[in-house]
Amino acid sequence: VSLAVRNAALDGDAIGLRVEDDRITAIGSGVEPESGDEVIDAAGMAVVPGLVNGHTHAAMTLMRGYGGDLPLMQWLQDKIFPVEAKLTADDVYWGTRLACVEMIRSGTVRFWDMYWQPEAVARAVQDAGIRASVALPLVDGLDAGKSDALRAAAERSLDALADAGPRVTPTLGPHSIYLVSEKSLHWIAEMSSERDLRVHIHLSETEGEIHDCLTAHGVRPAPYLDRIGLLTPRTHLAHGVWLDDDELELVGARGSTIVTNPVSNLKLAVGRVFSYAKARAHGIPVGLGTDGASSNNSLDLFQDMKHLALVQKHVERNPAAMPATEAWAVATGQRAPALGQSARLGVGEPADFLLVQSDAPELTPGDLTANLVYAAAGSVVDTTVVAGRVLMRGSEIGDENEVRDGAIASARRLGVIA
Ligand SMILES: [Zn+2]
Repeated sequence: VSLAVRNAALDGDAIGLRVEDDRITAIGSGVEPESGDEVIDAAGMAVVPGLVNGHTHAAMTLMRGYGGDLPLMQWLQDKIFPVEAKLTADDVYWGTRLACVEMIRSGTVRFWDMYWQPEAVARAVQDAGIRASVALPLVDGLDAGKSDALRAAAERSLDALADAGPRVTPTLGPHSIYLVSEKSLHWIAEMSSERDLRVHIHLSETEGEIHDCLTAHGVRPAPYLDRIGLLTPRTHLAHGVWLDDDELELVGARGSTIVTNPVSNLKLAVGRVFSYAKARAHGIPVGLGTDGASSNNSLDLFQDMKHLALVQKHVERNPAAMPATEAWAVATGQRAPALGQSARLGVGEPADFLLVQSDAPELTPGDLTANLVYAAAGSVVDTTVVAGRVLMRGSEIGDENEVRDGAIASARRLGVIA
């Protein structure tokens, strides 16, 4: 399978690009299509790397807008948990497909997911053509007596995901230190080490979590995880909003990645802003995420990128605290290599890229990166290519209507909509 892009702008130059199978085989001025290539004429468009969504609960698209303005615990207990109790694999499949459509439309090429029925998530990812790290949420309700059963469930999910295909990476997903017992966190740390599996966990999202951790364990969340052996270069911490200076130093020393979710944090009113400058000063890799579609409520990472820049400028009282180039680097995974996405458009790199409508009004005139961060929404994306496959072209995705119908049928069955 081969693909050629003509007349695309790259850093101001008109270039061509060729893809064979899932890799870029040529890029630059003078690169022309060869016979047999699928050809895309990209006049009026710029080629840019794809975005990486570092923290999602993709199938929660089914619960988008459901009880969204309630306090966190009331929202979870009265709205979300009763619906999740009824979820089938089919529901998760269609919810994840809908999330993939939304992400492909807005330029995301890879996401890090934590949700129920991970086999259904993986099937949706394969069918959508996108890339994802997929984790079953590991939850034992702090009951060490349920730890062995949880371990068996984790083993089953890893076995089921083992053959899910090259674009799916099985991952361990302990939900949080407030829903997983210390006993379970210990075997999760061992399993991660023995099988070289990434660990995706929520950490220090709310102030209450800090108090509870201090009360239960005598230390704050980061040293608690470290004591268990779960703070490693394989660890991805979602949020990290309430990590203090000593904890950021510890996370940096251990090489763990933090994924910040500024829109979700603002919407759920967590009361603090993730310390990007301090995190980077301690050498911590940082990625960007949306969180679930019921706490954001969008999976358009362009919005999160803009909020990331604005919030960091605001809290630092310094417009230079997060330049557009830095926000773009975070959103494309360049500040967090462990997220697994190369943002380099070069020969031999995976063929994951976007064509954006650089003649769109919101990208005209001025600097492309500044406009992408501050002026654009995901709707400027015309074409999304992942692993050499064109998933969207001319802002159209082939089976989008079928996916929407499937997701609506699931939301109706679950009682989220009438
Ligand atoms: Zn989350």
